[in-house]
Amino acid sequence: MLTSIGLEVHVQLKARSKMFCACPVEFGAPPNTHTCPTCLGLPGGLPVMNQEAVRLTVLTALMLGCDIPPVSKFDRKNYFYPDMPKNYQITQYDLPLGVNGAVPLHDLAYPKDAQKNIATSDKEVALVRIHLEEDVAKSFHFENTTGIDFNRAGTPLMEIVSQPVINSPEEAFAFLTSLKQILIYGRVSDADMEKGQLRCDCNVSVRPEQEQTLGAKIEIKNMNSISGVRRALAYEVRRQTQALERGEKLEQETRGWDDAVGETFLMRTKEFAHDYRYFADPDLVPVKTEMLLEEARGRLPESPKAKRARFVQQYGVSSYDADVLADDLALAGYFEAAAKGAARPKNIANWILNDLQNALAQAGCAVVDCPIAPTALDELIRLIDDGKISGKQAKEVFAEMFTSGKSAAAIVKEKGIEQLSDAAAIEELCDEALAANPKPVADFKAGNRASLNFLKGQVIKLSRGTANPGLVGEILERKLNG
Ligand SMILES: [Zn+2]
Repeated sequence: MLTSIGLEVHVQLKARSKMFCACPVEFGAPPNTHTCPTCLGLPGGLPVMNQEAVRLTVLTALMLGCDIPPVSKFDRKNYFYPDMPKNYQITQYDLPLGVNGAVPLHDLAYPKDAQKNIATSDKEVALVRIHLEEDVAKSFHFENTTGIDFNRAGTPLMEIVSQPVINSPEEAFAFLTSLKQILIYGRVSDADMEKGQLRCDCNVSVRPEQEQTLGAKIEIKNMNSISGVRRALAYEVRRQTQALERGEKLEQETRGWDDAVGETFLMRTKEFAHDYRYFADPDLVPVKTEMLLEEARGRLPESPKAKRARFVQQYGVSSYDADVLADDLALAGYFEAAAKGAARPKNIANWILNDLQNALAQAGCAVVDCPIAPTALDELIRLIDDGKISGKQAKEVFAEMFTSGKSAAAIVKEKGIEQLSDAAAIEELCDEALAANPKPVADFKAGNRASLNFLKGQVIKLSRGTANPGLVGEILERKLNG
């Protein structure tokens, strides 16, 4: 069986005010506190276009390599629903702000358990279009009544529609993760699915291998988590495959997803298909995109792909480390702030990807709230590079830095854990150890290299663990061979 999946993603833009009025956009405000005649759909309310929302959409279209038509316009989509009192939604129909384009899928964007079995590496998922519209209000169903919160009504919503060229639930997961990353890189949206800033409808159809045309289009509505999308699609692909294998015929329909039960359920069949009677909104002028495009080019951010390549080239980190660092814009920023001017940026990457990430995960803390400033981490690593503290001591200092926020130098001084790197002092200790252990010395001279390690251990013991092991080895060997 062949699986074809197309996604329609709704993205809440990082705009301060609504799409066609000046009401503020604020998550979690008390119900119906951000409303006005325009977003309540009262007679006489007139729309005024939010330029920043248009700019952010053009920027997204540019980041995704879309074609941007010279003129774009807004249309009315007519339907009746309690959460939309105008009885039409302002959206874009035949002249959206972007057409074509693609979302490149990156290996790390796949679910962790699927990263070893990627069907098509570096796949690009082609897009149909990107358009801008207003969101509807939100219904809350109580025991006997339904309440509607109009705070969300009229907030700017960008819709990104993919071609049905996604071939598995894992690819759909990678598409959403990659898209989310690009949106965050462009500072277009925070793309937080838990806050409803990224929502998704999935079209999925399964057909026998020999069949050329797509199977019946079955839509799963209102998905609000990326892992939920993967599970819903996996369920649906299985359901459709089994139905076809039983010889059943599938019909076009809309389904919902019950996350708790782990099943999709029928919402409506195509008999209820709408005719939206689109027409150009007479209250809004068409948008000429030339100037907007020029401005968007000026603020086009570095893409995740370009950042990964630059990290390898500029800082000499491995391509895997570059992938992981660039995967999270905040982590990438932290790395760059610490690595700038560092002698060995690779060491910085190692500390960030191991100790720092572990500590952050254990503390349930985000990178932006990290108690260790990037420059403070660089300072710690310099102490190791300069032989002031050992790698083992550094771990101890790091843990203390993370809990107290103190600098590495201050902690080293306070705890008196500075590594002994004074060559003269180490020489004295070496002499002492050599004099006390004539047998291992003789063994070494007879060709037994292993006794060097024993002697090294004796010197470090004499220093109470503070002697720089590299220096101890060097001095011992010189003395034994001399
Ligand atoms: Zn308003």
